[in-house]
Amino acid sequence: MPAKRTLKTARTTVASARTATKKAASKAAMSGGRTQYVYAFGEHTDGSSAMRDLLGGKGANLAEMAAIGLPVPPGFTISTDVCTYFYDNQRRYPAALKADVEKAIAEIERQQRKKFGDADNPLLLSVRSGARESMPGMMDTILNLGLNDATVEGLAKRTANPRFAYDCYRRFIQMYGDVVMGVQPANQESHNPFDEVMDALKHELHKVQDTELTAADLKELVKRYKKLIRSRKRADFPQDVYEQLWGAIGAVFGSWKNERAIIYRQRYSIPTEWGTAVNVQALVFGNLGDDSATGVAFTRDPANGENVIYGEYLVNAQGEDVVAGVRTPKQIAEMEREMPESYKELQRVRAKLEKHFRDMQDLEFTIENRRLFILQTRNGKRTGLAAIRIAVEMTEEKLMDQKTALKKIPAESIDSLLVPVFDARAQKAAKVIARGLPAGPGAASGLIVFTASAAEQESRRGNRVVLCRIETSPDDLKGMLYSQGILTSRGGVSSHAALVARQLGKVCICGATGIAINYERKTLTADNVVLREGDYISIDGSTGEIYAGPIDSADSEVKRVLNGSLPPAQSYAYRLFETVMAWADKHRTLTIRTNADTPAMAEQAVAYGAEGIGLCRTEHMFFDGDRIDYMRQMILAADEVQRRVALKMLLPFQKKDFAGLFRAMNGRPVTIRLLDPPLHEFLPQDDAIRRKLATKLGVTPEYIIERIRALHEENPMLGCRGCRLGILYPEITEMQVRAIFEAAAQVMTMKKPVPVKPEIMIPLVGFKAELADQVTIVHRVAREVSDRTGVKIDYLVGTMIEVPRAAITADELAEVAEFFSFGTNDLTQTTLGLSRDDMGSFFETYRQKEIYQHNPFASIDESGVGRLITTAVERGRSTRANIKLGICGEHAGDPASIAFCHMAGLDYVSCSPPRVPIARLAAAQAALKNA
Ligand code: ADP
Ligand code: MG
Ligand code: MG
Repeated sequence: MPAKRTLKTARTTVASARTATKKAASKAAMSGGRTQYVYAFGEHTDGSSAMRDLLGGKGANLAEMAAIGLPVPPGFTISTDVCTYFYDNQRRYPAALKADVEKAIAEIERQQRKKFGDADNPLLLSVRSGARESMPGMMDTILNLGLNDATVEGLAKRTANPRFAYDCYRRFIQMYGDVVMGVQPANQESHNPFDEVMDALKHELHKVQDTELTAADLKELVKRYKKLIRSRKRADFPQDVYEQLWGAIGAVFGSWKNERAIIYRQRYSIPTEWGTAVNVQALVFGNLGDDSATGVAFTRDPANGENVIYGEYLVNAQGEDVVAGVRTPKQIAEMEREMPESYKELQRVRAKLEKHFRDMQDLEFTIENRRLFILQTRNGKRTGLAAIRIAVEMTEEKLMDQKTALKKIPAESIDSLLVPVFDARAQKAAKVIARGLPAGPGAASGLIVFTASAAEQESRRGNRVVLCRIETSPDDLKGMLYSQGILTSRGGVSSHAALVARQLGKVCICGATGIAINYERKTLTADNVVLREGDYISIDGSTGEIYAGPIDSADSEVKRVLNGSLPPAQSYAYRLFETVMAWADKHRTLTIRTNADTPAMAEQAVAYGAEGIGLCRTEHMFFDGDRIDYMRQMILAADEVQRRVALKMLLPFQKKDFAGLFRAMNGRPVTIRLLDPPLHEFLPQDDAIRRKLATKLGVTPEYIIERIRALHEENPMLGCRGCRLGILYPEITEMQVRAIFEAAAQVMTMKKPVPVKPEIMIPLVGFKAELADQVTIVHRVAREVSDRTGVKIDYLVGTMIEVPRAAITADELAEVAEFFSFGTNDLTQTTLGLSRDDMGSFFETYRQKEIYQHNPFASIDESGVGRLITTAVERGRSTRANIKLGICGEHAGDPASIAFCHMAGLDYVSCSPPRVPIARLAAAQAALKNA
């Protein structure tokens, strides 16, 4: 399918679908052949799973399933090209579409032996969205399309079941009224207007369950629904089935740009241009009686990855019922007893799907009079934990190979094995007030909030929150993003809450039927305990337990194994971690270092697999205990002599810190950055502290205030900092370098000597002369120390590349520097002319307008900052072929940026200790992608 031509044809055809069919058809004919907008599946299938871009994920997989002989009701997919056309042409369709759709409907009619709109034997349809990446629940679905006052009678007669027919009809009017005609609740707190009408009727009839309503009751309901639509919209519910169909198609295309879809796309970086496809399909009925059902299933447990079929179903129900949580569905395991034939068939389909798609599948099915139909399959969303377990086990079962498995584990998900769980003792002491289904593993403790907006407000105030809802809907997405945990009292593991939690990696418990949530009173009641909005609640998403009050958290199993407090054999989580890390290490070419300033951080990083320190910030070492006073004394010194006195006091502290770090790193390279921040950051802002300091140093408070004023800078980020400090006060550089070399000499000559490879890094360099100035000091002090101690130390001197000038003149810098380390935080700030701390006011707007595709401080801005990096790499190597290259900005822990670093040919990335395992996996994925 030549996509380019499709777009071109689509853009040049401006006529409306309804009025200019002929004109456009002749135009297309003139351009030599017709663009295909409609792709059938069923007895004859046009598409395949390879055509996601054009057919969307749902359409492509429906085609694939039909082609491999799985029971899929026939239908067709309208391509994403039509969506593009729709938005480029004031929401009109390509001229040829109408005829194509009508032809495709005729083909479904033939296969189903029913007729669309026929009063005796009506064909009913579902109209569903489906984008390239699945966006569950984000866009709209319409079922039972094709029912009107005449066809509903035909359906009633054919099935000899008027109750069923009117049940379908009232469902259709509700969906159509909501999705196409826009009859919706006024706000978050108000009820769905159709539900209100239904509830009123039930109340009048003294009935509780939907199932108690008779055919006559439902007929009355249909009447009231129509009245509701007329009163709200001043338009009638349409009786013409083609009008219904085009209305539904338009609503699905229109939903691509509804608010929740837009938010979802932003969260997952899905481009707007992709568009959605529309799937039109013959309807099968799960609500025909007790031999019928509808359900959803995962081929493995999406919460923990266990190899069991997992899901839920409802007897005598239609699709939306399961997801909407109207009735509480049954676990698939029960189906084995209740509908043994269908269960067996489902197991067969499960095996076939996994073997064919070679991944865990999330499928939707309907059973119509014992016949199983598959309505959708896709690679199932899963928690990070499940992703790891499924990849490892499917590889062991030979359904996947090792490389595929590595690619299938989102690098970030390694975190789920490392994040804290509740502290066991605190958890035991806490009171379990209820239980629900564990839907997103981990521990969350926070304030109770009942609405998405409250979640946002409290979280902006710096509070951790747990969003508690009866059930969640796509409108709650934003609130869920702000919450640490999500708790619902209704709905199962395939409910919206569970689905989103899995994707966001949020702690989640759903279907906690033992709690009652009252939105009006803002209370959560369980077991005689009444909690209010703003009270603490704690939820364990791994066990489903809910606690009143806050609970502290504790280390994960993996961490406990690594620090020796849990035997490895006792932890399956640790085995999974080890397996994935070993596979990753086999394939990656990037070295992984860490940013650490203390022995404890260094040890944790080494346990996680760090192969060196890429950034030790020395300034953090000056804040501890008495040191800060000596530091202040040094800064406040009137002249060099006094400064040297203070520096002499600081030297032993630095030396001790470095020695500790060298020992912890046990021979691995350690990059130490010389003093970087502007000096005023070390001075006290507080009046009382200033006075105390004055007394201690024997100066007047006025003197201190005067010095602070002298050091004041309009823009400290671009002021006297980095190497400028060392150039102005060479004695600072001298002291730091002396501390490094003396510590190295000491550690190398201990009883049990430890090799040391220090790499001294000069920050914020822009000129070769700046670097040369500092490097001279380093070499001189190194000589002095080795002359005095007789220890020869193998060291490197290099520079950070964190201003554009350094990147551009990298060839000159490399004449002096033995290594470069890209400080991408500052490099991003200086390249974009943007302070990271000041972009809050416009960042959201920039994201919405897609000026920024992502946050440039989270993921490297490849076409800007990235180009400076590749330039520096190339120029640096042109003068020093073996120059060592790394990155030490926060980007080094971001998988997308790691992929970039791999491509750019760096030797290592250096990230914070907890991100080391993620970086190992991301580095392997980068290598595999480019293999
Ligand atoms: P979503 O993308 O939100 O999952 P779907 O388009 O998959 O929405 O539709 C939701 C549900 O509607 C399905 O799970 C299924 O139960 C029901 N459904 C969709 N198409 C059909 C059909 N042809 N026959 C019966 N039920 C259907
Ligand atoms: Mg679906
Ligand atoms: Mg910097």
